[in-house]
Amino acid sequence: MPDADITFEQFRSKYNCESVCVSVLHAAKWPKGFQCPRCACRHVTVITTRRLPLYECRGCRYQSSLLRGTVMEGSRTSLHKWFQALFLIGSPTCYINAVQLSEFISVTYKTAWLILHKLRHAIRHGDASKLLTGLVEVISTVYNPRDSFFRWTERKPKKHQHPVIVGAGSYGGDKYVKLKQVYTSPEHRNRAMDHSDFAQFLHDHVHSTVKFPIVHNQFNHHKACDTLNMISDSVTQRINQRYFGVSGKHLQAYLDETSFRLNHTLRPNRAISRLFKMFITTSTITYKQLIASTVPTMTRESAA
Ligand SMILES: [Zn+2]
Repeated sequence: MPDADITFEQFRSKYNCESVCVSVLHAAKWPKGFQCPRCACRHVTVITTRRLPLYECRGCRYQSSLLRGTVMEGSRTSLHKWFQALFLIGSPTCYINAVQLSEFISVTYKTAWLILHKLRHAIRHGDASKLLTGLVEVISTVYNPRDSFFRWTERKPKKHQHPVIVGAGSYGGDKYVKLKQVYTSPEHRNRAMDHSDFAQFLHDHVHSTVKFPIVHNQFNHHKACDTLNMISDSVTQRINQRYFGVSGKHLQAYLDETSFRLNHTLRPNRAISRLFKMFITTSTITYKQLIASTVPTMTRESAA
């Protein structure tokens, strides 16, 4: 998967057919050549009678597919369309919504919506295993689905708003930001964040070697660094400028996409390959699971 500066048109012309995408996926899935996941045999018969090749182990007859274990599993959408969607959502400066994606890659709105959510699911899964290290600061903010511009004086959520914690630290030697929704029951949504919310965030997203994370609650926001304040103040705007207000049920997916973009703004040439890795190592999520009424939660344990 290319990583250097490349435009969408260049990308689209390079990955314009299924055979090229099959080769890329095959190389990523089995970089040292095919190996049976069941018996480790390296001898394979390729079955080409289906839309995508099946790889049948000559040792135990187990059949592997390229899509198994990826967010694309079960999808009937062409690989090159998935690749194009991945490029668009992985480009830090290119926000794209489902209407735009459906036009770009010529699929229905529902398919585009599902592709984007499956890619966000991969981002979320990739982020869950990355724990903040180094100097860690966390701060509370709110997401307001009805507002284009967050007013920084509104630290305590109103009824229709959603509390969010912003955490900043390091991961792998780079600065790293996480945006996590604080799940509350509807009747308690407008409460101020308390110690237990921050404790949960620190438990789920901060490495145990960080002994003294700095927590900025509603009373000491002014002590947070400018970058953290800038990010927390812009959460609503970053999401609403493209998605026009998202519900609490799907907010975490958009927060993860936003933090992915923030984390790659300074290193855009690594965003596509990192997303591609998440894309092929994250088990899919179904439409039924996505629209389930309960708000999904993902902690360190469930992501492992
Ligand atoms: Zn086998």
